[in-house]
Amino acid sequence: MVNERMLGLGTARSVIRELFEYGKQRAAVVGPENVYDFSLGNPSVPAPDAVNETAIRILKENPDVIHCYTSAQGDAAVRTRFADSLNRRFNAGCTANDLYITVGAAASLCCVFNGLTCPGDEFIVFAPYFPEYKVFIEGAGAKMVLIPPEIEQFQIDFAAFEAAITPNTKGVVVNSPNNPSGVVYSRQTLEKLAAILTEKSEAYGHPIYLISDEPYREIAFAGVEVAWLPHIYRDTIVCYSFSKSLSLPGERLGYVYVPGKVADADKVYAAVAGAGRSLGYVNAPSLFQQVTSLCCDMTADLKVYEENCKLLVDSLREMGYHVAQPGGAFYLFPRSLEADDLAFSERAKQFDLLLVPGSGFGAPGHFRIAYCVQTDMIRRALPKFKALADSYK
Ligand code: PLP
Repeated sequence: MVNERMLGLGTARSVIRELFEYGKQRAAVVGPENVYDFSLGNPSVPAPDAVNETAIRILKENPDVIHCYTSAQGDAAVRTRFADSLNRRFNAGCTANDLYITVGAAASLCCVFNGLTCPGDEFIVFAPYFPEYKVFIEGAGAKMVLIPPEIEQFQIDFAAFEAAITPNTKGVVVNSPNNPSGVVYSRQTLEKLAAILTEKSEAYGHPIYLISDEPYREIAFAGVEVAWLPHIYRDTIVCYSFSKSLSLPGERLGYVYVPGKVADADKVYAAVAGAGRSLGYVNAPSLFQQVTSLCCDMTADLKVYEENCKLLVDSLREMGYHVAQPGGAFYLFPRSLEADDLAFSERAKQFDLLLVPGSGFGAPGHFRIAYCVQTDMIRRALPKFKALADSYK
């Protein structure tokens, strides 16, 4: 006998992975240059040279210690460098003791959900959303409450949100810039969200935590502000990752930041650390703790994402697709050309376009394009998008 839930999670492949595998099979038949795979969110730009040079230098200089265990919550000097960076950039008021180093944002989120959850707790998530939230929240023994999307701009449907908050609401998850919509929440949206949370926390007599999942924080386009949430709402916990900003998804490095001012900060931090222990996540990779902490003020060369975005948005709109304006990340979330997004994604395959249906992100009637790909592939794919649109005329 094995755990049924884990069995299900381990055997069911995600729609995204299905598409990716299909793409590989199709490439073997028609050639890789004829398959337009927009399924996966793997950064397409290399990590900065400084990352590789720093890794090599550390390996040469510290071969005896670099592979050793660090403190469970991460090396103290590393946490100090991350804190200094947050203070320089956001005037965060962060100290090394507020940071818990993790193996990426996925682990950061799991530590926070597991650290916070008491029996009966609920976490609110806004559609469209990163589907793993459901896995992480339910894995922590909590319930995910999904707010339907506001489909014009993918900001927040506040009426639905207010109606969903209950005395059991332990936290609310935001992800801006967003996967899958690419949309950045405006300051106005965030201030309204904060006002509602403050009011409800007072009404229910306990804090409602805002969990800010920020792997795309640095991928914001010209003129778009990604507000620093702890300045807008006191009880914000930040989950960060270097997977996208430094193009290091395989190195598994991120952190949880529990600002000292959040309600019960010491207990929350200790519970996050306890969750890391319970989940077996202690001691994120030692080499990349050092490397990211020495490179945390830089990013990979991210400008290609904005170029890709503009090319796609302009071209798709001209072809008649409805696309909400993204402000960052590397995803677009247009409306599918028929209400059934799964049928639409199937039809796109006939044109060798691999597009992820929106249903899995909680927003049926849409599809996701991950444009973290070579610009040349996008140019070659445009006639296919046109042919797909024409097939509906
Ligand atoms: N959160 C969102 C919104 C993501 O898109 C991803 C990865 O794509 C993650 C979290 C997990 O990131 P990491 O690779 O740092 O675990």
